[in-house]
Amino acid sequence: MLRPNRRIWSTWSGTAGCLPAQLAAPTSEDEIAEAVRAAVRNGLNVRTAGTGHSFNRLVTTPGALLDLTSYKGVVAVDRVAGEVTVRAGTRIGELCRVLDRDGLALANIGTLADQTIAGALSTGNHGTGLAHPPLSGQVARLRLLTADGNVLTVGPDDDPDLWGGVRTALGTLGVLTTVTLRCVPQFNLRHRVDSAPLQELLERFGAWAGESEHPSLNWQPWTDRVTLRSIDRTDAPSTPRASARRLAATLDEVRCGFTGQVARVGGARTVPALTAGLGGLGPTSPYVDASHRVFTFPQPVRFLAMEHALPLERTADALRELRPALRRLGMHSPYSVLVRVGAGDDVLLSPAHGRATGYVNLTVPRTVGHLEILRIAEHILRGHDARPHWGKAHTATAEVLAPRYPRWKDFRRIRAVLDPEGTFSNEYTDKVLGPVDAADRR
Ligand SMILES: Cc1cc2nc3c(=O)[nH]c(=O)nc-3n(C[C@H](O)[C@H](O)[C@H](O)COP(=O)(O)OP(=O)(O)OC[C@H]3O[C@@H](n4cnc5c(N)ncnc54)[C@H](O)[C@@H]3O)c2cc1C
Repeated sequence: MLRPNRRIWSTWSGTAGCLPAQLAAPTSEDEIAEAVRAAVRNGLNVRTAGTGHSFNRLVTTPGALLDLTSYKGVVAVDRVAGEVTVRAGTRIGELCRVLDRDGLALANIGTLADQTIAGALSTGNHGTGLAHPPLSGQVARLRLLTADGNVLTVGPDDDPDLWGGVRTALGTLGVLTTVTLRCVPQFNLRHRVDSAPLQELLERFGAWAGESEHPSLNWQPWTDRVTLRSIDRTDAPSTPRASARRLAATLDEVRCGFTGQVARVGGARTVPALTAGLGGLGPTSPYVDASHRVFTFPQPVRFLAMEHALPLERTADALRELRPALRRLGMHSPYSVLVRVGAGDDVLLSPAHGRATGYVNLTVPRTVGHLEILRIAEHILRGHDARPHWGKAHTATAEVLAPRYPRWKDFRRIRAVLDPEGTFSNEYTDKVLGPVDAADRR
């Protein structure tokens, strides 16, 4: 099934790509197993791709690439147990629509419906809400195809280290084939937007983080006000034409994309003036809709993003430090800094491992002029004990990351046992996790 390949694979953002020697799009677990066996026989390393919504070189390989986007669909919905089993390449939005028809929902998701369940899990994908850990917290069990061709079913009652490692593994332990997630009864959410002075918000950051079930804030660093988004459960019915309301966020991104294009001529310094000239969309009125339609919105404009997970209690200080640094730099992104929060978890490589978390996300247009913003911000956030989002842009190496993860060695041990030859590695995983080392097995 693995044929010589001439197709270039690239990420959604177009910021990373590769020409794999072999490219397969399996449609069954057997085909996945056969593709891995064939790659191993040919001495090729294997990387697995979802929809490529990670921004870095996690997926790229000169070896064998398994594109799992054709291996999709819901396998079973168990209404009694409140569980759904999906094939790894199923997109989050597709899953949510199927659950909706069955009166079920996922308790919390991020802002994008397009990425695959397995890709999202593997990179520590999260939404917002102090009561909600990353997506991995909703997993009941999963199936993992390992380098020796065996398929393991792993759940919370199995080896706790394996269970802790397998849910966010950057594709380095093998190929996830199916994932079983816990669901909740379908619910509606009310979406509300307010604004507040930045200073005041930072003084009461901890309290603000707990005032809504799903809070987030947006801040344009050249201004002193923030936009606050609160998303909360309600028994109220959907607002008429609610679907159109969520497009306000999409239109805002289109406006940012356009501003970024114009700033290519004038430079990143011109962004505040351009933004003022174009005018924002302003606050939207509250609306109610099905949870998955309120959590997510279509994001057609391509950009580059970096996000770091900080201890919740250090997040306000990090934002205080970012403010003068980004102003001094004088260059700006048309996209706001996005701040979200989340519960900690016990997943070994989860950026939220062991602590309530504040997530600080910076989005920039894909131009060289904007990269400096990310470099400055990364330097500051790192000083606040931050861990980068595995799927987003960052420059951290294994040396930088290891001391930030208390269970780092346990993950390396599991990897050395499950994949002793480093079959599922690439240059990028060697950089961020270090190469597989037989000595780690002890
Ligand atoms: C517009 C946009 C919005 C985003 N919003 C959010 C957000 O709200 N919250 C958030 O946390 N992140 C967000 N992200 C980041 C993104 O969701 C994640 O990084 C995720 O990786 C994307 O999933 P994917 O299917 O595109 O995976 P890919 O990018 O294709 O792969 C990511 C990783 O998963 C591994 N992988 C994929 N499939 C498998 C498998 N079957 N078995 C084993 N490993 C596998 C790959 O090897 C790779 O290491 C966003 C990204 C974009 C572009």
